[in-house]
Amino acid sequence: MARQVHLADGTLVPCIGQGTWFLGERKDSQVREQEALTAGIQEGMTLIDTAEMYGSGRAELLVGRTIKGMDRSRLFLVSKVYPHNAGRKNIFKSCMSSLERMGTDYLDLYLLHWRGGVPLSETVACMEKLIKEGKIRRWGVSNFDTDDMEELWSVPGGKNCAVNQVLYHVASRGIEYDLLPWMRAHKVPLMAYCPLAQAGDLRRGLFENQVLRQIADRHKAEVSQVLLAFAVRDGNTIAIPRTGRKEHALENAAAAEVVLTEEELAMIDREFPAPARKVHLDIV
Ligand code: NDP
Repeated sequence: MARQVHLADGTLVPCIGQGTWFLGERKDSQVREQEALTAGIQEGMTLIDTAEMYGSGRAELLVGRTIKGMDRSRLFLVSKVYPHNAGRKNIFKSCMSSLERMGTDYLDLYLLHWRGGVPLSETVACMEKLIKEGKIRRWGVSNFDTDDMEELWSVPGGKNCAVNQVLYHVASRGIEYDLLPWMRAHKVPLMAYCPLAQAGDLRRGLFENQVLRQIADRHKAEVSQVLLAFAVRDGNTIAIPRTGRKEHALENAAAAEVVLTEEELAMIDREFPAPARKVHLDIV
């Protein structure tokens, strides 16, 4: 994949990776899902996002089976810790369990899945310890709004946060008002989850939208590819679409080649305007 995103430490990651929520949960579709993930990796979507929460570890197990025998250094593995496990009592065990399920000895990125009761200072100290122990390469957060990021920045070590993973798609642009500008100013890349609005489940009619269809036709592309191209358009965003189908994985990887013109972005702005005031962070 030609287009990549720079993390603050200089590491390059593909602008489109692969999500895994709901994967690995049904026995009869696991082979198909593994084939999809494998095809995606072969096409350059080497960043894989998972979490201890997904299928109570079954998504991590699926990732582990998929990457077995692959060159680990070519992969960028992301997992997430539950908020209630994100303190010194549980995080080390949680991280070890994720590593075991994935059959690897380190994570490239470990995220706090959302804010919970554990003080941020404690989570950050634990994350830094995990780095020192070689269990993770870097850490980040998820579902953090601007005030959460500001609080994180006031905590010792908080500025080492590598990414913020939040919901972002064409029909949910609330973060463009203040969170995204804040992240740009502080050089925190965005990891966009639900970039396909869960195949339109989060916004009925999205895949049938005429403006998106027209833009897709111009690029001889699919609407899904326009959605991904929109999400990653600024060069500082990593989108993590999820699919259990090889043909969709190939489409998602190829979306990195779709570059929207100013005119097309203006068409999208008219159809799906970004809010002109603060809205609360969209969460699924
Ligand atoms: P997505 O927006 O990625 O949508 C997934 C849906 O889109 C599936 O139904 C999939 O079906 C379909 N799809 C995928 N590719 C295509 C395609 N090319 N054409 C048509 N349909 C397609 O939703 P997710 O909720 O899965 O979000 C993506 C990832 O983000 C998650 O898997 C997870 O890793 C992460 N996430 C993180 C959260 C957090 O709190 N940090 C919350 C939610 C998600 P099919 O399998 O049939 O292709």
